[in-house]
Amino acid sequence: MSTHDDETPFDAYREEVDRPLSRLFLEYTPGRAGWFSAGMVANFVARMASLVPPLLLGVAIDALFTNEGPFELPLVPDAWLPAGEAEQFWFTVIAIAGSFLIVALFTWIYGVTANMFAHGVMHAVRVDSFEKMQQLDMTFFDDKQTGEVMAVLNNDTQNLEMFLDNALMNSARLVVMVGGITAVLFYLNWQLAFVTLFAIPAMVVFTVWFMHVVEPRYVRERSAVGRLNTRLENAIAGMGLTKTTSSEEYEVGRVRKSSRNLFEKTMDVLKMSYLYRPGMELLAGVAFAATFLVGGLWLVNDAAPGPLTGTLSVGDFVVFLMLTQRIVDPLAEVSNIVDQYQNAKASSERVFGLMDIPVHVEDPDDPIPLENPKGRVEYDDVTFGYVDNELRGAGDSTASEDDEQELEETVLENVSFEADPGETVAFVGPTGAGKSTALKLLLRLYDVQEGAVRLDGHDVRDVTLSDLRSTVGYVSQDTFLFDGTIADNIQYGRFEADDEAVRDAAKAAQAHEFIEDLSEGYETRVGERGVKLSGGQRQRIALARAVLIDPEVLILDEATSAVDTKTELLIQRSIDRLTEDRTTLVIAHRLSTVKDADAILVLEDGRIVERGTHEELLEAEGRYEMLWGAQAGDRETAADTLVE
Ligand code: ADP
Repeated sequence: MSTHDDETPFDAYREEVDRPLSRLFLEYTPGRAGWFSAGMVANFVARMASLVPPLLLGVAIDALFTNEGPFELPLVPDAWLPAGEAEQFWFTVIAIAGSFLIVALFTWIYGVTANMFAHGVMHAVRVDSFEKMQQLDMTFFDDKQTGEVMAVLNNDTQNLEMFLDNALMNSARLVVMVGGITAVLFYLNWQLAFVTLFAIPAMVVFTVWFMHVVEPRYVRERSAVGRLNTRLENAIAGMGLTKTTSSEEYEVGRVRKSSRNLFEKTMDVLKMSYLYRPGMELLAGVAFAATFLVGGLWLVNDAAPGPLTGTLSVGDFVVFLMLTQRIVDPLAEVSNIVDQYQNAKASSERVFGLMDIPVHVEDPDDPIPLENPKGRVEYDDVTFGYVDNELRGAGDSTASEDDEQELEETVLENVSFEADPGETVAFVGPTGAGKSTALKLLLRLYDVQEGAVRLDGHDVRDVTLSDLRSTVGYVSQDTFLFDGTIADNIQYGRFEADDEAVRDAAKAAQAHEFIEDLSEGYETRVGERGVKLSGGQRQRIALARAVLIDPEVLILDEATSAVDTKTELLIQRSIDRLTEDRTTLVIAHRLSTVKDADAILVLEDGRIVERGTHEELLEAEGRYEMLWGAQAGDRETAADTLVE
């Protein structure tokens, strides 16, 4: 994904995850144990049944075609077998056909049940990780870890599925086949079995060697994939810049280089991979040839060659040769199994790493219900600083270390103010002063470190998040719209609202008119993130959303983006209506919009440096008066004074 290979997501938490694969089984197998065992059993039956036809062929050769031996089968009592030769022949035909039927049927059962199990786990893990992600603190998302979260939800769950389905079932097959074949061969002729099965340890050694050689190449390939993806993501995100500076060729060049690098690294892997399968076949071929040589001499001379003793029948010899061929496929899977195992281990570490990230902003154990909220807001000596999520979460950091961390980057210091129900309090001040931060504390997007934020007299940490957030509405600067229709977007957060209510809200937000003018009115799709709407239109949709939610307290982060005067007037009108009879905290960039506020707070470097009404502040001739001067026209002198 978007990360380089050397930096893995949520490192701090990953390290703390204990035995991730066992945990995966413990947490996700219960409830799906039926599918899992059915898969395993069907797998076992299908594999075992596949060994029956060669065995029957061997018996038929000896008992029916060359008349060298008795008609008998391992594990089957002789009394069950027919006596006459014709009956024995038909018995063999039917048994062979039956075995193939069983193989087919149980392979199907195994495929379905194993996949039900593996995909079921994948689905559950995906939903659980997403649910967990929804609970995570805002701090987590500030670090822009979206790429990593996407990787967990997509790649990692897929790796788990691959492992649970392919790797697990293939290792079961490996055990059954190697065990079954070994048992059959030893049953038939233990001495020749030693000759044939010598290949197995050789194949294992070869596989281990192969993995050792190919692993570093894999690492280089994956890292090349990561770099190419980053390059591509970047290029697509920057398309606008590329076009306006006509740098297309430069971009193509960069991508060509990354792609070429990936091509070369992939070929490095493939050159080796293509050695593996033929190598395994070769070893199986050697086993085949050795078996043929020893067994052939045995039959031709009608005497055991060299140190060997006893007899060998033609039928047994044929079974040996057939089963030797069967051992390659399951063994050739070993390198895949190990690979998928390692991937799954790393993936489950990431999945549980995500699930283990501690959440700090959560509901209190004993919440105070917010009944009939009035909308009284109080900030009491609030001090706050952003804390690095990774540092805070990683377990053993002590409180005192946290404090140092906070002190270094305090964003708000001793902020106190009150807003009575229905009042409007405006925040003004330079960019970076902490205005948005201050208001986000009321929504508990972050928690204060000192002091308290209160709503109707209750500390916001003492009420449930859902009570809090249905009482406090937030219209941010950059309006986010989900892909969907206009109506969907207005309804977001009040999903049960009917068309009538949506329309009324849009009317109140001065949005109804332009919506009606759109090709499909309220059913018009807004496109990804609402790119098909102008900034002013998006803002009015956000306002309509707030009208519909009808919160007692409204936080308004006034948009800085310029809109034309008419739109501005429309927006201002809808804001005025919206704020009329509810507590409003507004971040104002245009001072003209806050003239009528009940109180204006001037924030600088996280401190309130001035407070009062518009008139009072003008009279005080301080910061506010200067800002006002700058915006009201006397820009030159005001700017000079400000800079000074
Ligand atoms: P304003 O709204 O007055 O422009 P902000 O509240 O956005 O100011 O920012 C105040 C300070 O906090 C700035 O120094 C900014 O860099 C910092 N800051 C804002 N958001 C975050 C964040 N999510 N993580 C870390 N620091 C932040």
